[in-house]
Amino acid sequence: GLDKKSEVRKPRYVRVNTLKIDAEYAKSELRQQYSVQEDDMVPDLLILPPGADLHNHPLVKNGSIFLQGRASSMAAVALGPKPGWKVIDACSAPGNKTVHLAALMKGKGKIIACELNKDRVKRLQDNVKLAGAINVKVKHGDFLNLDPKDPSYSKVRAILLDPSCSGSGTAFDRLDHLLPSHSAEGTSDHVDVKRLQKLAGFQKKALEHALSFPSVERIVYSTCSIHQTENEDVVNSVLHFASSLGFQLATAFPQWPRRGLPTFDGSEHLLRTDPTIDKEGFFISLFVREGLAQNEEH
Ligand code: SAM
Repeated sequence: GLDKKSEVRKPRYVRVNTLKIDAEYAKSELRQQYSVQEDDMVPDLLILPPGADLHNHPLVKNGSIFLQGRASSMAAVALGPKPGWKVIDACSAPGNKTVHLAALMKGKGKIIACELNKDRVKRLQDNVKLAGAINVKVKHGDFLNLDPKDPSYSKVRAILLDPSCSGSGTAFDRLDHLLPSHSAEGTSDHVDVKRLQKLAGFQKKALEHALSFPSVERIVYSTCSIHQTENEDVVNSVLHFASSLGFQLATAFPQWPRRGLPTFDGSEHLLRTDPTIDKEGFFISLFVREGLAQNEEH
């Protein structure tokens, strides 16, 4: 668990669910109790003082605001789906990013929210309902089994891929625990390497699968890991395949200073948050393909 000190240090982020209320209303409500600032990068994200406990706040209970970290909130914004698009959230439970996508799309279009784990599907469904995200269709199953040739996916324009990862970017909330060897389970370095390679194997497969959908023009691959194995290495390993399909890396949040580790040409497009500076370690990559003829019918 967290010690009191680190709890106090970490600012609290609140994402306004614009499907239900607007940021002005959220601010005026929250300001009755807290000082509230707006984030300068993610729209509709509010910053509250460290230690603010909102778990039982009426706006949380009724799905008007979501307690979601800053880095995590950047993923859906980086994907940038437009209202009316068809979108897949490949690994979606508990659905924080799914309902964020729905809000960015103003509830218009369709999100297929895929989740493998049965218990987590329940949490996903609850969150989708709570958020009032009526354009989300929850699909219980393996993303790798969604057939890119299936006509029902032929118009999918964007995919968010936020797969299972080591969680090493969130495993330490205390500044004196910043060594990668202090994983969530306290496992040894040796076990970590094997575990990371196994995770990276799945991540690569899932990313290649996402790249295979015929009409997709935007893909975000994100993790809450600090490990190169799950981040830059996974991206690098699919670059050849991606470019053969017309995809290029694009720069998500160009104004953000912390980019990918300089392990290959183009890694400056990648985005990292730093657990020391940003209080969480997160990774975002964005693949973009231009020049596809899309059938605009909405
Ligand atoms: N994007 C979510 C959010 O913001 O709330 C968090 C996703 S979590 C990092 C990864 C999820 O992927 C887990 O719920 C896990 O059960 C699911 N998952 C793992 N393998 C999968 C697969 N092959 N197909 C679909 N979902 C999978």
